[in-house]
Amino acid sequence: MSEPIDISPSYRQLARTGAEIQRVLDGEKLERLASLCSEIGQFDVHLVFGFEDKQVKVVGTVEGSLTLDCSRCNLPVGCDCSLPIDVLVFESEDRLQSWLDHGNDSVSKEVVVSGPSLNLMDLVEDELILGLPRAICSQCKSDNGENYVYSSGPKVVNKSPFAGLSDLSSS
Ligand SMILES: [Zn+2]
Repeated sequence: MSEPIDISPSYRQLARTGAEIQRVLDGEKLERLASLCSEIGQFDVHLVFGFEDKQVKVVGTVEGSLTLDCSRCNLPVGCDCSLPIDVLVFESEDRLQSWLDHGNDSVSKEVVVSGPSLNLMDLVEDELILGLPRAICSQCKSDNGENYVYSSGPKVVNKSPFAGLSDLSSS
């Protein structure tokens, strides 16, 4: 069996040319993330490479949908993720350290230490895991409405597996 051809350009190469990457990643292949979800779909990845303070900078978005278990009652909760990405990439701990030694800090800026070559899956997977929402179904949400503050984003739809049952029995 031949390995699929995977040309992994270096981050610096990509940044120098201002490369733009548009790809669809299969969520099932993001194993660490998939293990946290009860269902996972595909993710649209859009990344642009450049430099900031001589460091490789990656900005873009990852969009997709996944299903998590409600953290209170375990009912499935569908979530649409749209995650902005804005990270500085360092090829080694040493490079990160010297950047820090120059008076920068990794609190105001998200940094990633990676090998010299692009591993798109890892980069995106890490970001998604960090950005996973805390899933609470609409039922638990309304039971405890006063304890939580939610942004006015779109409502998470609770897809109960029993939702269609009443339709079936009445026909
Ligand atoms: Zn719940």
